[in-house]
Amino acid sequence: MALDHSRSTEVFGHARTVIPGGVNSPVRAFSNVGIDPVFYDRAQGAQVWDIDGNAYLDFICSWGPMIFGHGDPEILDAVRCQLDRGVSFGAPCEAEVRLADLICSVAPGVEEVRMVSSGTEATMTAIRLARGCTGRDKIIKFQGNYHGHSDSLLVSAGSGVATLGIPDTPGVTAATASDTMVATYNNLDSVRSLFEAAPDQVACVIVEPVSGNMGVVAPQEGFLRGLRDLCDQFGALLIMDEVITGFRVALGGAQQLFGVSADLCTYGKIIGGGFPVGCVAGRERFMSNLAPAGSVYQAGTLSGNPVAMEAGLAQIRKLAREADRLYPQLQRKSDVLFGGLRDAASQAGVQVQVNALGSVGTVFFTPDPVVDWQTAARSDRDAFAVYFRAMLDQGLLIAPSQFEAVFLSDAHTDQHLQAFLAAARTAFAQVANR
Ligand SMILES: *Cc1c(COP(=O)(O)O)cnc(C)c1O
Repeated sequence: MALDHSRSTEVFGHARTVIPGGVNSPVRAFSNVGIDPVFYDRAQGAQVWDIDGNAYLDFICSWGPMIFGHGDPEILDAVRCQLDRGVSFGAPCEAEVRLADLICSVAPGVEEVRMVSSGTEATMTAIRLARGCTGRDKIIKFQGNYHGHSDSLLVSAGSGVATLGIPDTPGVTAATASDTMVATYNNLDSVRSLFEAAPDQVACVIVEPVSGNMGVVAPQEGFLRGLRDLCDQFGALLIMDEVITGFRVALGGAQQLFGVSADLCTYGKIIGGGFPVGCVAGRERFMSNLAPAGSVYQAGTLSGNPVAMEAGLAQIRKLAREADRLYPQLQRKSDVLFGGLRDAASQAGVQVQVNALGSVGTVFFTPDPVVDWQTAARSDRDAFAVYFRAMLDQGLLIAPSQFEAVFLSDAHTDQHLQAFLAAARTAFAQVANR
């Protein structure tokens, strides 16, 4: 039986009159799964409650930041303590230095860090910096990878752009788009051809080291190493966008997990402990080109905001302290959940590909392996919508798009995973009987 969402529906109706599409970030609208969004009221641990009083198990986790679940006492204490001492200074504070120190100590190859307020700002800054350092204009990105919504990175983007089927965003000029070259994920030849087509013009390659925004697609053996080599060969910078993977696939992110170092990398999501924080980080010889040390300009009124820094610091400290327990545990949960989903789909006779890496994974409704955007895009989105609605009805909250990830957190217990699998069996049956 469907849950009662009448208050959410009413508020959404009003929201649409004062907010474009009723939401402040497109995928939240649920338009792609054919229903109205639910409005959250509160969250604790692995649970969220909507404004109609329905409880859900949360497998979105704010799209990644809540790796310890909602309301972690250590993070809340750090925030409360800072609230009494000042909410915003627009001036240096010690917490931003401590957070930078901590990131440098756990992320391989990171020597300096510049704080910003979102992942979008982080990647936008990284691109500008790469262009400033190399004196070159063009960039290479991958189809289906999402790096936030700055103009040059919206070309062939994943996440909401892919979900809503928006091929080229109005408002991005042709001149800007023409500086963005688009390669195929997991295909080094496609990258080499672009380099060869524009020798001495490519400033950087930007990549999600594990794709999360076309659904989860892991890099194939040698792909990241190959990108590293191509960048070195053609004098371009390698930027790894670790906004999802940072502090998630390992404490030191994908660079640690795969043993490949980028020149610049970007973090977001997890590093703010739920507050709006991002950063661009990397080698000193590149980072030192940022103003005021260098001439590539970048700034932010709320950058290094003390409350956000304390939240991020508390979260990263806890991750570092508990890494030996946490990451193996997340992997074990991942094996249980995503392995269980594979079995459940096959028992229901639904053909899926379950891609998972550590604490993120995606059920693609397609019989063929998903290794890039083209293979991801073959997924049956109607089947996904049926699956999503059946999960929601049973109190399971997952991202409302075929092209996003399920996020696992420390707050998910075995019981939560079993609840997910039980709901998924029902959901797969509904997909099969459609
Ligand atoms: C979410 C995301 C971004 C954008 O971060 P925002 O904080 O939403 O601006 C950039 N890159 C990747 C890989 C992301 O997943």
